[in-house]
Amino acid sequence: MMRWLCWLALQALVLLPVQAAPHYDLAVKLDPAAGRLAARARITVPAGEPVALRLAARHHIDALTLDGRPMHARTDAEYQRIDLAPAARPRRLDVRWTLRAAAPDAQASHRDTLTGAAPQIGEAGSFLPAGGAWYPLPFDAAGPLLHHYRLKVELPAAQRALAPGDLISEKLRDGRRQVRFDMHHDSEGADLMAGPWLEAQRPVRARDGRMLTLVTLFHPAIAELSAGYLDAAAGHLAQLESVVGDYPYSRFAIASSPTPTGFGMAGLTYLGIDVLRLPFIRNTSLPHEILHNWWGNGVHPAPGSGNWSEGLTTFMADYAQREAQGDEAARTMRLDWLRGLSALSPQDQGRLADFTARTHDASQVVGYHKAAMVFLMLRDTVGQPAFEDALHLFWRTYRHRRAGWAELQTAFEQASGRDLARFFVQWVDGSGLARPRIAAAGIERDGLALTLEQPAPAYALDLPLTLRTDGATRTERLHLDARHARITLPAGSGCTELALDPDFRVARQLAAGEAPPILREATLDAGIGLTVLAGGDAKLEAGARTLAGEWLDHPPGEVGADEPPGRSARMVIGTIAGVDLWLARHGLPARTRDGDVVAWALRAPAGGTLALVAARDADALAQARRALPHYGQQGWVTISGGHTTARGQWPAATAWQRVCPH
Ligand SMILES: [Zn+2]
Repeated sequence: MMRWLCWLALQALVLLPVQAAPHYDLAVKLDPAAGRLAARARITVPAGEPVALRLAARHHIDALTLDGRPMHARTDAEYQRIDLAPAARPRRLDVRWTLRAAAPDAQASHRDTLTGAAPQIGEAGSFLPAGGAWYPLPFDAAGPLLHHYRLKVELPAAQRALAPGDLISEKLRDGRRQVRFDMHHDSEGADLMAGPWLEAQRPVRARDGRMLTLVTLFHPAIAELSAGYLDAAAGHLAQLESVVGDYPYSRFAIASSPTPTGFGMAGLTYLGIDVLRLPFIRNTSLPHEILHNWWGNGVHPAPGSGNWSEGLTTFMADYAQREAQGDEAARTMRLDWLRGLSALSPQDQGRLADFTARTHDASQVVGYHKAAMVFLMLRDTVGQPAFEDALHLFWRTYRHRRAGWAELQTAFEQASGRDLARFFVQWVDGSGLARPRIAAAGIERDGLALTLEQPAPAYALDLPLTLRTDGATRTERLHLDARHARITLPAGSGCTELALDPDFRVARQLAAGEAPPILREATLDAGIGLTVLAGGDAKLEAGARTLAGEWLDHPPGEVGADEPPGRSARMVIGTIAGVDLWLARHGLPARTRDGDVVAWALRAPAGGTLALVAARDADALAQARRALPHYGQQGWVTISGGHTTARGQWPAATAWQRVCPH
């Protein structure tokens, strides 16, 4: 199953404000049926530094005046630029323009919708992200400026409108709807959405006593989901206020999009209709998007610093949900993160300081998962109370401002009283993962002697070491900050079993075979072989080859059934009886799941990963063919009647190292 993670609409445009914010009075008429928007803006630019306003090149300016005098925009491939020289007094810019946009494409992939900032206007939905410069966005020499605005939207009465900010009024007149929004905080800008939505509202009391409004704006097809989402949002909001601080806006809206989006803006989230239908979204994407009102849309990421907000949101929303489910669920998520990070090629091991927004899988792994791991290590290092104090301090100080990793470091240092310079340098400015290991262990006269080592450059690490001795298990935290360290611990009377970081709490490169196998490990392998055990069934034989052709990244070499599994990856497809027999013949563990089709990953004793697919018959295999490639992240999946009946990962077994007295 795909995981839906959001992308902040404006993360590509993050830079520090160095001057007072411009104020916008925006008025737009939206015509969804015609795919058209007519707009005018009165922009008050404060005295002082030069300001450049940029409107996307594709829009048409009808009129442009500065303090009442006509002026011209300079057009290049990307923008129409309106450059204002520094002035001793505030200036007033009046602009009228029109834009046309295509209707949203419901067939667009999630990736298309994450990277496209082009406006969409249609009766099924309209989306004009501020980052696409649908109105003249302000920049200074360093980059985009935070700004505040009032926005008046007029549209057909059958449509509703949504934008970040307080809802000031909503009126119906002559078959038209007029809605006014006021964003009086410095913000990333006016993202405008509209749709044929049904609205439901619920008032809730905030921690500080204010009344907040929770809103769903859902297409009629999913209107019945509204109550469940309002319940869930109320719960998450109260919980997050208790952890982070007061909610910074007056309302929180959940709006449905005809495309498979997942966006979080100030005071709202914009999620695809099909995304909202997924039952788990209200406890995964929803708390994540609500938390972005603090991290990302409450404190805005600063320039050149990297976007810390996705990692902190992943840690405090997605991971916190797993922690609430129990230790094993949280451990599985940490293992997933480390597995993904360990699989990255060296050129994809980016620095957190360079991460701005998710544009491909590798940037997600680093910007979301490595960053979340860094916050986990930080909490393990400074302790829960100091961790929470630091975030409260950071929130109070930088609310509605920009801040970067350096400001986070300062907050954590103040709250913990520790020097965290090396921690932030190695994890934020550095790339890659730590590779600590136990180089030697023995029982000596003064106790259990350990030699830890790591390659250069050495990380400063707090390493959990779990020891099982005399029937008891305990965990020590060992400090390693050089290439080598020799440490002596009290030894038990008998043998001791050791495991370094068995719960995956350190951002480290997993050893080969440390993570239990998943199907993708085999299917991505360039040297994979294919064994078909069709038992003479020509239709099954053909179906097996079609499946392999569609699922595998590289054409497989043919491998005979007699050949024992070795160090290379292999896909084995056959009848249930055929695959069971093949496993027994090669001394491999037997199948443990049942279904019309069972697929699972298994690591051969020689190290190669096997992707096994056992099917009741050719028809069952044909029914499962399209679904199977979606389960690459799983250890096993069962499909019956063409539907996935169960899936999961194999538990991670700890490789204990045994040390005994001489
Ligand atoms: Zn996010």
